[in-house]
This record gives sequence, structure tokens and C-alpha cells, in this order.
Amino acid sequence: MSLIVQKYGGTSVGSPERIRKVAARVSHYHAQGDQIVVVVSAMSGVTDNLIKLAKEIMPLPNEREMDMLLATGEQTTIALTAIALHALKVPAVSLTGAQAGIVTDGVHTKARIQNITPDRVHELLDARNVVIVAGFQGQTNEGQITTLGRGGSDLTAIALAAALKADLCQIYTDVDGVYTADPRLVPGARKLEEISYDEMLELASLGAKVMQSRSVEFAKKFGVIFEVRSSLNDNPGTIVKEEAKNMEDVVVRGVSLDKNQAKVTLVAVPDQPGVAARILKAIGEAHINVDMIVQNISHGSGKPTDLSFTVDKPDLLKAEKLIDSLKPDIGFGRVIATDNIAKLSIVGVGMKSHTGVAGKMFDALAREGVNIEMISTSEIKVSVVVDLAKAEQAMRAVHAAFLGNPKAT
Ligand code: ADP
Ligand code: ASP
Ligand code: MG
Repeated sequence: MSLIVQKYGGTSVGSPERIRKVAARVSHYHAQGDQIVVVVSAMSGVTDNLIKLAKEIMPLPNEREMDMLLATGEQTTIALTAIALHALKVPAVSLTGAQAGIVTDGVHTKARIQNITPDRVHELLDARNVVIVAGFQGQTNEGQITTLGRGGSDLTAIALAAALKADLCQIYTDVDGVYTADPRLVPGARKLEEISYDEMLELASLGAKVMQSRSVEFAKKFGVIFEVRSSLNDNPGTIVKEEAKNMEDVVVRGVSLDKNQAKVTLVAVPDQPGVAARILKAIGEAHINVDMIVQNISHGSGKPTDLSFTVDKPDLLKAEKLIDSLKPDIGFGRVIATDNIAKLSIVGVGMKSHTGVAGKMFDALAREGVNIEMISTSEIKVSVVVDLAKAEQAMRAVHAAFLGNPKAT
């Protein structure tokens, strides 16, 4: 008997028909005698619609109330999935995140899991029930409902798999696994049999929304091996695990594109020690993630300089407001905010031991006439900011340069 955590994303539970299909798959595993915990997302489009509704009323709604609102999406799906299992005569009980013992900190809309006490889940499993847990949500010690950031059902599944010491963790989605690039944007993308946590983490945090990046971080920390696979067929998926020796043979494992980025430029910032720190500290304290940061060299000592950084698109308004509030104190010039950008990245652990990778990427971009606005690199990735309008074309060109030839992987 195995304990299996299965997570089904929005498309996989996007209609009553799809929910019935999920129930059929779950009942198959249950009939084999396995203990099954099912984590579900909101039906596709539901979370986006709820956000839209709130923003129609007010552009920057209160984050506690947003969590209250967004948690309803997953609560609908757990009940529907339990009902679909009951229709197949499979005993099933749905639990909210709080009922499953998921305790988080109080950072609304981006809460972190602090601990999980899954006693109730164990009790229900021991009584042969399928346990269906609402993804994406938890509760603080004070009883406030929280959510775990967009795509957070992945994190619920991985964290539950760790807490329950599950034998298997399966992430069911609408593609067959993790590809060398988003198969919807790059027709030549190929499915990977396996990928290391580090590569998956980079791809995910750089825009490959097939996995939420924080969930991969969590999996790496607790050594949860998981499989990303399709809820629409039985094809083997992609195994995500610790790096194996031969993984470094491949220079570029994948290409990702993040269209959810925005760029803020502060013009004429005083070139003095501590100024960038004050700006970025304030941004950090507001829980706004900053990714790339570029400061131009000032022309002559004491002359002002320009400071640019990228933030997640949904945080742009919040960031702009915050920066406006710092202006009188710090005394910079104009603030230019644009969301017409995208971040394109290549990722691979093999970059550690290969040279010339960035040059090859920039060359591919130059041949497409794509201008590079910002650059950042790490041991296993190169990222560039490009014009949003040319981003997909740029992605295909870079994919072709590194992964176009099947022998290259
Ligand atoms: P779910 O609702 O199941 O959580 P998501 O929409 O969050 O699914 O993630 C699956 C989507 O991720 C796919 O439909 C695909 O378009 C996208 N995606 C982006 N990058 C990749 C990649 N490298 N491999 C596979 N899918 C990717
Ligand atoms: N429903 C949430 C979202 O759309 C969580 C998830 O789907 O994983 O972001
Ligand atoms: Mg997802």
C-alpha cells in the first residue's frame, strides 16, 4: 500500500466532465488499496475572475479580503471532486487548507507555510477515505485565511507530500510533463524525462508556470521527488529530483519566458552610498519581489544616476505608489514604469562547466533584431529583458539556437 499525493490543476478540474475524469483516475488508485490525498486548484479561470471582480470595485483591494475571496475558488472544487467520487461510490471527504492542518504566516496573498499538522488527514485516510484538500490556502495561528501565491496548489501538494511522508507525489496538469520550453509557445519544444530541482526552480521562477517556483524550492529542501504528468492521458511525465552526474552534459536544459514582469526606472537618483539600499529596502518591506537591478554609471562624480529594476507585473502599481512616497525624501527625478517587457532566460546546470553560452544567446537575439534592455546571470542561467512585442519570437530563436537539434540534449 502506498500513500500518494496527486495534485490536479485548474484545467484538469475545469468542467464537471473533467472533474469526473479526475474522480475516475483517483478511484482506480484507491481500488488498488493505495491511500490517496488529492489536492485541487480552482477551476480554470475562476481565480482570475475573482481578482477581476475585486479590481472592478477597487484597484488595490485589501489583501486579507483578497485571500478570503480567492480561497473560495478551491473550496468549490474540493466539494465537487468529493461529490464526483461519491458518484463512483468511493468514500471521500473534502478539507479546506485549515482543516488539513496547514498553518502559514500572515503575509496575505503570498503566505508561507510554517507547519502542517495532518492528523485529520491521517485519520480520514486510515478509515479508507480519499482526502481532498483545497490547494493554495492555509490559515494563520490566529485563524486568518491566507493564500500561498499564484500557482500555490503545487506548494500545497509538495508540502503535504513532505508532511505525510508520501511514497509518491504526482502533479497532474494539461501538458505531458516539463518541456524544454512552453510547448504552447515553442512548437519544437521536447518533453524532458527528468530535470534537477535547481533547473526546475530556475525555469519556474523565470516564468515556466508549469510549476510554482516556491513549491520546487520546498521539494528541494525536503527531498520530495515528484512527477509532472498529464491528467488527460497516461503518458509518463517528467521526474523532478536531485541533480544526477550526467545532467551536466547538457548545457541548456530549457528556455523560459516571463511576461509577468514590469520595469521601473528612477531617473536622476543621487549617486550616494545608501540611496539604492533605502529604495530597495522599502520595496522589500512591502513584500514586492525585485528581480533584476541595473544602475547606470554616473557621468562624473556626484552626478545623478539612473536605477532600473524589475518587479512582478501585479505589484507594479503598489511599487509606483511606494516610490512616489520616497521621492520627497530621496529627491530623484522622473519615474518611468512600463509593463511592455518580458524576461527571457536559458537554464542549465551544464553552464557551470561550459563557456560562451551568453554570447551564443545574444548572437541569436541579434540575428532576430531583438534589443537587450537588461541582463543578469547566475551559475546556471542567463536572463535578458526584451520588448514584450518581440518576446515570443526571441524565445523561439533562442530555443532553436540551443535546443533545436535533438542531438543537443
Ligand atoms: P495547472 O493549472 O495544472 O497548474 P498551469 O497552467 O499552471 O497548470 O501550468 C501548465 C502550463 O504551463 C502548460 O499548459 C504550459 O503552457 C505552461 N508551461 C510553461 N513552460 C512550460 C514548460 N517548460 N513545460 C511544460 N509546460 C510549460
Ligand atoms: N487557483 C490558484 C491560481 O490560479 C492556485 C493554483 O491554481 O495553483 O493561482
Ligand atoms: Mg499551476
